[in-house]
Amino acid sequence: MAKLATFQDPIFQDETKAREALETVLWPDGPICRHCGNSDADRIAKMQGKSARPGLHYCNECKSEFTVTVGTVFERSKVPLTKWWMAAHMLNQGKNGASAHEIHRQIGVSYKTAWFMMHRLREAMADLAPGPMGGEGSAIQADETYYGNTSKRSKSYRKGHSQKASIVALVDPGKHTRVFHMKDGANSVDVRQVLVTNVDRKSTLVTDESKLYTRVGKEFSGHEKMNHTGREYVNPRGFTTNNVENFFLQFKRGMRGTYIHCGEQHVQRYLNEFAFRYNNRSGLGVTDGERTARTMQGIEGKRLTYRPTN
Ligand SMILES: [Zn+2]
Repeated sequence: MAKLATFQDPIFQDETKAREALETVLWPDGPICRHCGNSDADRIAKMQGKSARPGLHYCNECKSEFTVTVGTVFERSKVPLTKWWMAAHMLNQGKNGASAHEIHRQIGVSYKTAWFMMHRLREAMADLAPGPMGGEGSAIQADETYYGNTSKRSKSYRKGHSQKASIVALVDPGKHTRVFHMKDGANSVDVRQVLVTNVDRKSTLVTDESKLYTRVGKEFSGHEKMNHTGREYVNPRGFTTNNVENFFLQFKRGMRGTYIHCGEQHVQRYLNEFAFRYNNRSGLGVTDGERTARTMQGIEGKRLTYRPTN
């Protein structure tokens, strides 16, 4: 199961290079004062010389000094930026992610620190202000699945859907996905809420024959159903739910291979992680490096209210 990450890029070895790379992704248009938000290049000076910390800037608006990490989780965590880049890279290099244990062993931080970093990175992968999916002429696939401890040898093994996390995914084929942990189970009221708040009603909804979608389907410009009991993968009018089913397969395979223990309280975080990789996949022209950079970009500006519970 051990995966060997290769850390060839200088950003994994040289703290200056790691900081400069972070400046590039967080400040694409030049430095922004961490204290007052000033971004006027004429009012910000780069401090150089032996006594100045590397990457130190001086803001002429508020007369204070800052670096790209001041006031951020990168500064508070005291983990070198090279290691943040390594962890982000490991999380983004394959389809299945990386466990805190792998991060701990490969980049040389304590398990506790690795766990903290992973959750920060997952939070960074969440899509916080997404617009509606689909629109006129688009077909949005929706499906539900159940995820839980499926090992019968496990002490916590329970039979039945009520013991598992209910998950609903929406997929705009060839584009992106959004995935939701349904905390009160997959019921038609909550499923409707997810659909109408995330999908443009001018879209065609594509689902299986589950009763969950019968009523809400009428709110969309069309509702196409797959007859799964008849093993139908493409319906007579050419619609399919294959993409959303494949996403679920990828999620379950990845969870089984990489994340052995996942408490129900964390399910949404893992869903965000798998959705992020799907939405930034190589098939859409996104390289491993770009995916890693987008993760690092997302880590700032998202304030975690989250506290570890175990
Ligand atoms: Zn300032």
